[in-house]
Amino acid sequence: MDIIKTKDLTFEYIRRDEDGNVEGITTAVDKVDLDIAKGSFVAILGHNGSGKSTLAKHINAILNPTEGTMWVDGMDTTDQDKIWDIRQTAGMVFQNPDNQIIGQVVEEDVGFGPENMGIPTREIWERVEESLRAVGMYEYRKYSPNKLSGGQKQRVSIAGVLAMHPKCIVLDEPTAMLDPSGRREVVRAVRALNQVEGVTIILITHYMEEIIYADRVFVMDSGKIAMEGTPREIFSQVERLKELRLDVPQVTLLAYELQKKGLRLPDGILTVEEFADALEKL
Ligand code: ADP
Ligand code: MG
Repeated sequence: MDIIKTKDLTFEYIRRDEDGNVEGITTAVDKVDLDIAKGSFVAILGHNGSGKSTLAKHINAILNPTEGTMWVDGMDTTDQDKIWDIRQTAGMVFQNPDNQIIGQVVEEDVGFGPENMGIPTREIWERVEESLRAVGMYEYRKYSPNKLSGGQKQRVSIAGVLAMHPKCIVLDEPTAMLDPSGRREVVRAVRALNQVEGVTIILITHYMEEIIYADRVFVMDSGKIAMEGTPREIFSQVERLKELRLDVPQVTLLAYELQKKGLRLPDGILTVEEFADALEKL
């Protein structure tokens, strides 16, 4: 069963002048067909302006399609009666954790979502604890969020979404404002949610190294799905990735160049460890 499905999904931003005349149309999402299986970890890659955020906003019914359809757990996102079910099924985490954290204390912040859903107090505390543990932030429950690093704050915002017990979490460039160690923390937490809690993950990013653990990768370009495959299938198409203006990891590029020079390395090397192992086996 697909948790997220789209058919011919198209979205146009329409620019108008002061008199309301149409000045221009940007087709940000262009006839996209997607199927994302429940429980999977999917990455969506693409350079700036390729349509990733516009697509993501449809999952949460922040935007409605100009044409085509988006279903979340079988619910059409244009169905007004289902909007709260849809938003509870698919939670969103955005780029800047400072805009998502509102509580004065970490545990209070994580409790806001379930509280707004009308969950009984005792259960709220259970959910807060379980969510903070799942992202490795339980020891910080009494902290003030502004005392935390960027990576820790972002993990708290993920716990806040998790506390609403979504089936799916969509993260729109959650690591873009973080340093490399914060990025690793967040990716590790997201991966654990997928593997341990079975939450479907849709990770939007422009950092290729973050997609290594994904089951499936979609690469967007000009509002379309330009590539689709496993991380290894994607990483092995170095020239295509360059065309799509993605920064291919150094180790993948190096392995690719050595391969071109005749070294018999496997396709789509993803990590330094894998590269070292492959060299040893030559
Ligand atoms: P990404 O998240 O991959 O950077 P976006 O979905 O934000 O891409 O943008 C896709 C296209 O839509 C871009 O050309 C962008 O300029 C345009 N766009 C995004 N948001 C708006 C908006 N609010 N109004 C008009 N155009 C927009
Ligand atoms: Mg974006």
